[in-house]
Amino acid sequence: MTSRRKPLVLGNWKMHGSIDMAERLLVALAEGAAACSGIGLGVCPPYPYLGLAAARLGRGPIGWGAQDLSAHLHGAYTGEVSGGMLKDLGCTWVLVGHSERRSLHGESDALVAIKADRALEAEITPVVCVGESLAERQSNATESAIAQQVDAVLPVLARAEAAGRAVVIAYEPVWAIGTGLTATPEQAQQVHAFIRGRLSANGFRGAPRVPILYGGSVKPGNAVELFAQPDVDGGLIGGASLVAEDFLSIARAAVQRV
Ligand code: PEP
Repeated sequence: MTSRRKPLVLGNWKMHGSIDMAERLLVALAEGAAACSGIGLGVCPPYPYLGLAAARLGRGPIGWGAQDLSAHLHGAYTGEVSGGMLKDLGCTWVLVGHSERRSLHGESDALVAIKADRALEAEITPVVCVGESLAERQSNATESAIAQQVDAVLPVLARAEAAGRAVVIAYEPVWAIGTGLTATPEQAQQVHAFIRGRLSANGFRGAPRVPILYGGSVKPGNAVELFAQPDVDGGLIGGASLVAEDFLSIARAAVQRV
């Protein structure tokens, strides 16, 4: 990690919790956040708890974001939530193209790019998730799988750069998400460097500034080593973000890189 990129740690709560649990977790995070200065820190609770996140995290050092957004601006799209609505709720980030959205909801690279554009239009930072499956890794197709997903959002990155807005990329090997298997720091670094190189090779001059997060079974015990890699700019944390002390410990691992 270089000093040019501020570390960022985001928690993806997925579809976990209840109002009680969200309340307790948000309060504990707000209390513990003082030790995490100098980095970007945020949580992505389920939609119904975003208002609670806004109330409990307020103007403190922890921000909040959503796990998805609609590809549409507004209209007759039952069940969808627009970027504008997320902006109204104070979201700083929104995940797009998480592997669970890609695999369980059939989201294509093209749809992911549209959603990333919608986020930018709403002045929310899209966190574009990319990652290879186990079969792709085992057949030496990791780079081609990642290249296809990254190339699909290149025009979005260029538009964001021209507008002075940020896009975050999260590398999440599908085989490491929620499995307890983690990419080694070397494996993570290799893919992060590949992503940055791919952006540069395609003429994207902002490549050195793009934060690239690692996600996939990050825990307090492996965060320091992962975040020590030069192109690992922080983490997207699933399971461990549901336990305040674990999430804050991971955040402190990122603080060490500041
Ligand atoms: C995720 O789903 O974004 C994730 C990284 O999950 P976990 O940390 O539980 O592997």
